[in-house]
This record gives sequence, C-alpha cells and structure tokens, in this order.
Amino acid sequence: MGTNLGQKAHNLSCAIHEIGKRIGSIVSQSAFLPTPPWGFQSENEFLNCCIAVDTELSPLQLLHATQDIERQLGRTQKSDGTYHDRIIDIDILLYADLQLRTPALTLPHPHMGERLFMLQPLAEIAPNIVVPGTSKSVAEMLSALAARS
Ligand code: ADP
Ligand code: MG
Repeated sequence: MGTNLGQKAHNLSCAIHEIGKRIGSIVSQSAFLPTPPWGFQSENEFLNCCIAVDTELSPLQLLHATQDIERQLGRTQKSDGTYHDRIIDIDILLYADLQLRTPALTLPHPHMGERLFMLQPLAEIAPNIVVPGTSKSVAEMLSALAARS
C-alpha cells in the first residue's frame, strides 16, 4: 500500500488496522518506506508498506474489501491510466500461488517487477517466495530491477 497525502504513517496504520478487522489477521508487516512518486510528477513523496494477510476472502472479495477501505479512508479518485496523489492505495501483489487475469484483477500484480516501491517492502517480508508465472523469487526480482535502475 502507499500514500502521499496527509499524515502518511497514520494513513498506513489506519489501513492496516482496517485490513486486520475486515480482511484477516496480519501475518507480517514491512517497515514504512519513503519512495519517490512513480509514473507521475508530484512534490509529495510516498510512504509505502507491504503486509501479508491470512484471509478467507476470495481474490475478488479481497479486491472489493480493499477498495471499500480505500474509500473509507477518504480516497476519491481512481487512476484511469494516469496517476495522482492519493491518501491511500491498496494493491494486491500476490494471492498465494494464484495467477489470474480478469478485467478487475490481475495476479500477481502486473507491474510489480518494474516497481521498487512494491518489491522493496515485499522483499522485506517474503524474499523467498517464487513469483507465480516467473522463475524468480521476490529477492531475485528486486536485484534484477535494482541492477537496471
Ligand atoms: P493504481 O493502483 O494503478 O494507482 P487504482 O488503485 O485506481 O490504480 O486501480 C486501478 C484498477 O486496477 C482497480 O480498479 C482494479 O480493478 C485494478 N487491478 C487489477 N489488478 C489489481 C491488483 N493486483 N491489485 C489492485 N488493483 C488491481
Ligand atoms: Mg491501486
């Protein structure tokens, strides 16, 4: 998840609290990592964090639950091809070893291999998971991206 508006650490903490209440128990949590905006210009740096959650929800139920939490925390704007400042963005990077491609949800997250702000916190909590559909672990994917960027 990420935020670049308002009290960022508070926004992440609230999102984690709501996820724990409504989605399932928090198994592990990365540090809060400051990162530059990606894909758009903004003077507001991001704070990112990655958590692992144990949930009974299906992938689509999980997406809808995270979207409800985004709205509850005050997110109004969806990204329609362009990126904007946001109070909170909750993305699903991995769901067990599932690969899925539907209009609403793609798993693993289709851009995680290109985004340090996703791979760095993910590698803190799950370095050895092999990313479904690839032959790389999260840590290997992170090193490959870091070497290119
Ligand atoms: P972004 O996260 O790219 O800034 P949004 O949060 O507005 O933008 O998400 C845009 C759409 O991406 C969502 O409406 C959702 O249906 C879709 N989506 C596809 N795959 C995923 C995923 N793995 N995690 C979260 N959203 C996803
Ligand atoms: Mg999102």
